[in-house]
Amino acid sequence: MNEKVRCLIIGSGPAGYTAAIYASRANLSPVLYEGIQPGGQLTTTTEVENFPGYPEGITGTELMEDLKKQATRFGADIRFGTVTAVDLNCYPKKIVIDGEKTIESDTVIIATGASAKYLGLPDEAKYAGMGVSACATCDGFFYRKKRVAVVGGGDTACEEAIYLAGLAEKVYLIVRKPFLRASKVMQDRTMQNPKIEILFECNAVGLFGENGVEGAHIVRHMGTDKEEKFDINIDGFFLAIGHSPNTKIFEGQLNLDSVGYIITEPGTPKTWIEGVFAAGDVADPHYRQAITAAGSGCQAAIEAERYLSERGL
Ligand code: NDP
Repeated sequence: MNEKVRCLIIGSGPAGYTAAIYASRANLSPVLYEGIQPGGQLTTTTEVENFPGYPEGITGTELMEDLKKQATRFGADIRFGTVTAVDLNCYPKKIVIDGEKTIESDTVIIATGASAKYLGLPDEAKYAGMGVSACATCDGFFYRKKRVAVVGGGDTACEEAIYLAGLAEKVYLIVRKPFLRASKVMQDRTMQNPKIEILFECNAVGLFGENGVEGAHIVRHMGTDKEEKFDINIDGFFLAIGHSPNTKIFEGQLNLDSVGYIITEPGTPKTWIEGVFAAGDVADPHYRQAITAAGSGCQAAIEAERYLSERGL
């Protein structure tokens, strides 16, 4: 027989865990499935300096462990497993775990977050696990005293470049525009780091190497009459060009925008299906911060509780 629950939460980032804290305190006995990356994106960052309540900063992993402990303390049932299919247009909603088990739930909170984007070069696939990475804190260790490149000009790229500069001999930051998009403080730290060389107005168009990445083909002023091609010698190639929302399994059931973010009723986590809520980066192309994700997880749990009590469920 299928298991039946009142509130099922998909995803274990700040949105999912915060939803679990609020839902368990509201006696909804939530069940949360962690997905393939327990703790979400923050477990791949270094120091989190802007989450309120931590004046000295905290590592992303510790922050997520604390949120998980807090949710567990109030009775949230946190499980390993990935949601592989859903049927949200019925009552109760049906959620398939790891292609095997089906759970029925009165309410569903989607907090599946977003994943790192790649440039789409065939060489990224060719050298996957052989020098190409989208997570400096996961893989930076392998590049001690080596040469690496980071692609991107936002906060993530700067953060990754600075982190890698602490390990590697040299870090190229490949930025397609003539300026960085990162916040002023991150720009300053990046520009002042003697190990980081910023290659403005440059695109990486390919990688080369025998048994792993040994270098990248770069084009400066691509597509203009000033176009210039050159190679850099590197051992590691890190992508930091933003993220795509993890919404594949919801296609055709929920309203998604052109990029794939879940569209919610403005200012609320309500999707167009009653009893289904979306929180965190999966529905937020604008802010994408741990604190805003946590806030929307709270809102989603409160809405789930209201939905259930209005229907006497
Ligand atoms: P962003 O979207 O802010 O930046 C992406 C960067 O990648 C831009 O420089 C963009 O260039 C570049 N880019 C995108 N596609 C390509 C491509 N195909 N080829 C080359 N370059 C490309 O993403 P982030 O992940 O950096 O940040 C996301 C959000 O998270 C932001 O709001 C950021 O402030 C926040 N954040 C905050 C942190 C903190 O406060 N500690 C840490 C990390 C992230 P272009 O500018 O030309 O579009």
